[in-house]
Amino acid sequence: MIITSEKIKEKAKELGADLVGISPMSRFEGAPKQMDARYIFPNAKSMIVLGFRIARGTLRGIEEGTLYTTYPSMGYAALNQIYGPMVLWNMTRFLEDEGYETVPMLNMNGGEAVNPVNGNFRKGWSRPVKEGNPYPDVLVHFRLAAYMAGLGEIGWSKVFLTPEFGPRVRFALLLTDAELEPDPIYEGKICDGCKLCVKNCPAKAISKDESVKIVIDGHQVEWGKLDPMACEKGLQGGYENEVNPFDGEYPRRYGYGRAIGGALGCIRACMIHLEERKTIKNLFKNKFRSGKPWEKIDHSKPYELTSDVIEHYVKQDKIEEHDAYENYKNKDNYGTDKSGKEKINPLID
Ligand code: SF4
Repeated sequence: MIITSEKIKEKAKELGADLVGISPMSRFEGAPKQMDARYIFPNAKSMIVLGFRIARGTLRGIEEGTLYTTYPSMGYAALNQIYGPMVLWNMTRFLEDEGYETVPMLNMNGGEAVNPVNGNFRKGWSRPVKEGNPYPDVLVHFRLAAYMAGLGEIGWSKVFLTPEFGPRVRFALLLTDAELEPDPIYEGKICDGCKLCVKNCPAKAISKDESVKIVIDGHQVEWGKLDPMACEKGLQGGYENEVNPFDGEYPRRYGYGRAIGGALGCIRACMIHLEERKTIKNLFKNKFRSGKPWEKIDHSKPYELTSDVIEHYVKQDKIEEHDAYENYKNKDNYGTDKSGKEKINPLID
């Protein structure tokens, strides 16, 4: 069988991908050496980018403020670390059976020489194995890879927007020596510059006016300047935990337990806006937000039990004390001891 782009896309969708795009490796031309996938597989001819929808319902519990496990697990980690890799693995088997070497790459933070959160180079971390090589590990930017593969555009929020799902997508990719017909760069426009992502981000991580511009394959790509450490705070519920109802550190799900901010600006506000404008294809019978969203949480207020808890638990003597609030007062919401001694890497831990 001659392997074609059409066959690859059909197979990837059969295996569970929602979106598939193909880029020639030449679209990495001009990328910084530390982010150039051609150094990972010099004989690669094509990059296949797979997109997986973040189900809208994974955001529901956070939207209502009543269930926080589903988004960090099913909407985040399980896509990046379980479902995506299964599809990657089976696509790799499919390509190997046709005689093509294929590097399956899942979106995770590992041993990159460039810090994937703030883009800083990690001096003293690793050494190039030969002259001219980048420092291991090379960091492939998955959103830029998705752009190269024609799957959509980068919104002002720096979140990738696809015409099918708007901001509700995560990616995995494969580098292969199969020479495949590439997809054109996406020429449409999804982001209309409404800046609702800016307004609704609890940590104010996205600049309203300042932007970052780069050029990929002759196309200018622009997004709002992002403060990555503020983004980390927003991910975890804001600087004052204003969108995090927990007084203690929330248990991690596959390392992503901290994603309890529920992407209030960059995903939820953006998604609601794009659905209202019918800019995207995956629309729903009912609106995502039907009433006024809940107000921000003030953790400085005294902790109180509601009357129904008093009725059902206190009266039956079924109450246990939790020291979450005491722990919370002694740690910041990265899970890092305020003394600075007990540093925990929020990405890996
Ligand atoms: S919220 Fe508006 S400005 Fe922000 S990425 Fe979405 S469409 Fe663009």
